[in-house]
Amino acid sequence: MSYRIRLSNHLPNVAALSNVLQRFNAQEPVELVAAFEQAVCKATGAAFAVAVNSGTSALHLSLKALGVRSGDTVIVPTFTYVATVNPVLYLGAVPIFVDCEPDTWNMDPALLKKALTDLQRQGRLPRAIVVVHTYGTPALMNELEHVAAFFGVPLLEDAAEAIGARHHGRMAGTLGELGILSFNTNKIVTTFGGGCVLCRTEKTAQKISFWAAQAREDTWYYEHREVGYNYRMNPLAAAYGLGQLPYMEQWVERRRDAFRIYLHHFEKQGAQSPLDRPQTKANRWMSSFWFPRANPALLVMELRRYGIESRPLWKPLHAQPVFKDHTAYLNGEAERLFGGGICLPSYPSVVEEVTRVIRQIIV
Ligand SMILES: *Cc1c(COP(=O)(O)O)cnc(C)c1O
Repeated sequence: MSYRIRLSNHLPNVAALSNVLQRFNAQEPVELVAAFEQAVCKATGAAFAVAVNSGTSALHLSLKALGVRSGDTVIVPTFTYVATVNPVLYLGAVPIFVDCEPDTWNMDPALLKKALTDLQRQGRLPRAIVVVHTYGTPALMNELEHVAAFFGVPLLEDAAEAIGARHHGRMAGTLGELGILSFNTNKIVTTFGGGCVLCRTEKTAQKISFWAAQAREDTWYYEHREVGYNYRMNPLAAAYGLGQLPYMEQWVERRRDAFRIYLHHFEKQGAQSPLDRPQTKANRWMSSFWFPRANPALLVMELRRYGIESRPLWKPLHAQPVFKDHTAYLNGEAERLFGGGICLPSYPSVVEEVTRVIRQIIV
């Protein structure tokens, strides 16, 4: 069945793509990728950006750049999309899950501290901590950074969902030692498959580009001293992204508008949602709500009957069969959210209608 109202109302922008291609006519295709990387730096304030073929690839190479190797531990949130954690396993490392706090729905700094204290005692301090701004709401970065710095473990920022979100004047993706963005089809800015790593130093950016292009040494013949990957961004994707990035701020504002209207309507239902705290700006990638008296399975099914697409909140990763053997530091928050929340279509024109349906279901 196809939905009348989708989670997002993105339609391919052919005119913008065609303008970009005309501008780059007769240039080498790689120039499109270089221009996209520069545009990402300009839009986010990052020092260096390396464009790759997905956010997942970006995470894989970032973890590698932070020195994650087989047998290492890596701390990850449990309340996130599976792509945050899969690259840890690609490297043969061991994820350790940490639950979220009720304000932003992101990693709980107190639990992170507990996990790091235990791991230090066991002589297994993690090589990295992956922080996610889930649904586009900035995590408690100051607190997390404080804990991470105390133990000397670098933060990798998975800002796949958080392009355009801000924290104390800085853009999501530029707050950690390394950060990644995703340009997957369902994200706010898309290239229909793509991602990038945001780096602080040119040296790291070059290393990541090198791995992404099959680790080919700079010699006149084919020379390889390391294992590489075929992760470079496709120039057509870069061209599409160049046509999309100028709309970033505008689209973030529309998502925030949609969220505000929902919030106003759901007050009476006692709904909870990730909190924009002082000096943060969530991009509201998804309008996500938790209701005290809701059954998410029923909500999703009922909305579907009206042709409205919705999704349950993340099922915690520590509870996924594929990760069942890994250590988790839990406080019950992620399980609670999964038990009572959903993500709703996130553009203003449909909010009134979606709200009306939900209020019929939850009274
Ligand atoms: C989308 C997403 C990714 C992966 O990005 P892809 O471009 O789809 O590979 C990683 N982490 C989070 C939190 C995401 O939402």
